[in-house]
Amino acid sequence: MTFNDLDIIVPILQALNGKGYKTPTAIQQQAIPEILLRKDVLGIAQTGTGKTAAFAVPILQLLGGSQKVDNKIRSLILTPTRELAVQIAENFKSYGEKLRLRHTTVFGGVPQARQVAALKAGVDILIATPGRLADLMQQGYIDLSRIEIFVLDEADRMLDMGFVQEVKKIVSVLPVQRQTLFFSATMPANIAALAKTILKRPVTIQT
Ligand code: AMP
Repeated sequence: MTFNDLDIIVPILQALNGKGYKTPTAIQQQAIPEILLRKDVLGIAQTGTGKTAAFAVPILQLLGGSQKVDNKIRSLILTPTRELAVQIAENFKSYGEKLRLRHTTVFGGVPQARQVAALKAGVDILIATPGRLADLMQQGYIDLSRIEIFVLDEADRMLDMGFVQEVKKIVSVLPVQRQTLFFSATMPANIAALAKTILKRPVTIQT
């Protein structure tokens, strides 16, 4: 199996080839076709499995290939730490090089001015940690009413870090009609319960 077999558009294929990736990883082989079909996905996968590209590549393809209605954020990636947010942004940057989609990151521990300026300039894909996102939402800088694809990354870690209230609050303002991708390294009962409340008829993928 190669990335060619996954129906990925040429500008993204070129970026993957440029990075020297030849074979999609197990999670990529399973998740990419389902995400491109606009299915919800429950992915049980650790970091290091190629999980980030498994969602970043099809999100770029779906958003890049469809018309946007207005200038609002179209995809939200929620991740527990600043380090993960930065890594995810690097993935979107490299695979989306040839596409005209804008992404930015918001996370805590730094002044918010530059993040606010980027948001005001217009963003298609927002990569965020829950605390800063909730904060900026409260201040009226973020409109999530046009989210088409929502990713909850490292859900187990998110809950371990005590972000459950922020996550629920953020999910509550997302459009009901959306695609949701939920990733967790482990699936204890509380995570499975959370997944059930935010996913619709998901395809489960385990690697
Ligand atoms: P992740 O699990 O998303 O943190 O990715 C782990 C590492 O694997 C990162 O350094 C990626 O750049 C790399 N990677 C992702 N997909 C592939 C692939 N298909 N082939 C080789 N390396 C990859």
